[in-house]
Amino acid sequence: MPSNNLIDKISYWVRPEIRALSAYHVPDAKGFIKLDAMENPYRWPQKLVQEWQQLLATAELNRYPDPAASALKQELRNNMGVPDGMDIILGNGSDELIQILAMALSEPGRVVLAPEPSFVMYRMIASFTGMAYVGVPLASDFSLDLPAMLAAIAQRQPALVFLAYPNNPTGNLFDSAAVQQIIEASPGLVVLDEAYHAFAGHSFMDQLPSYDNLVVMRTVSKMGLAGLRLGLLAGPAAWLQEFDKLRLPYNINILTQLSAAFALRHRTVLDQQTQQICSDREQLLQALGDMEGISPYPSRANFILFRVPADRARAIFAALKERGVLIKCMDGSSPALSDCLRVTVGTAEENAAFVQALQDSL
Ligand code: PMP
Repeated sequence: MPSNNLIDKISYWVRPEIRALSAYHVPDAKGFIKLDAMENPYRWPQKLVQEWQQLLATAELNRYPDPAASALKQELRNNMGVPDGMDIILGNGSDELIQILAMALSEPGRVVLAPEPSFVMYRMIASFTGMAYVGVPLASDFSLDLPAMLAAIAQRQPALVFLAYPNNPTGNLFDSAAVQQIIEASPGLVVLDEAYHAFAGHSFMDQLPSYDNLVVMRTVSKMGLAGLRLGLLAGPAAWLQEFDKLRLPYNINILTQLSAAFALRHRTVLDQQTQQICSDREQLLQALGDMEGISPYPSRANFILFRVPADRARAIFAALKERGVLIKCMDGSSPALSDCLRVTVGTAEENAAFVQALQDSL
């Protein structure tokens, strides 16, 4: 038993793997041109905002929301191309769905496997749920190292494999034949995390009926609705029924249910924004590629990873901040990302301000 000292109590009772974690850090972005978090930079036309506010005025905040979020689910099924016969469950952001998946499959010694570098939450949630995490390095061009993935799967028999498609922070889509081989070789569940599907032009959603160990996860965060916190998982009903038991009651609040369904009924506005972001991404890629000492990686998402001259990444990141532009410094987060920074595609004006600030910071 611990002594009566607070620190001793904490180190006795809080699990060592939790104490070893650092909390997910979100920097204060007030006053910055905010290009760090893959948000859509656009708001809605005023007329739409007014219509939405009128709808929100009807919300019965004194009541719990629909626990099944049926109306929203129907809207999402229609919008996301969920194949007939497949079910969906909703999460408070796709982060919550990752946690639900890990909670359902976790047992001491069981493994979560993902390529590295990829979305940091896979590793963090493996720790939260007491699972072992295996990161398999990507090839130097950030494509999947298929032999290494297949060898790790054969050896470690992962309960869960996460593939971000496109991958964060590298921005590329993995080869689809390689993804299929990974699904076929995996003894457990494979999660295709399509957080950036709106910008990608390719999806595994229509392949769900071909596999019994595949689920596809999406979020509305990158489509312009990050503030709502809404993710969905699509897949075979038999898997999803199990996961649904771990979902806390009423996890999708009433304002999110109403607002997301409303936004999806006005999908053309979101689609126009997405198209704008995709064309601005290409311009930004070009501008970065034209800069001396900057090597951007091609992207199928709404952000661009780029390399700067050796040992300059942190200084350039700080200089950009001083000029009022917040992006993400990836240097130090993984050996493959040394000298790398990641910028989210903003409005044309924000992108131009970023390019100018980068030029001035080199
Ligand atoms: N998956 C990937 C690959 C991501 O990059 C992110 C957000 N950065 C998420 C999931 C989480 O998204 P959400 O906002 O739905 O929790």
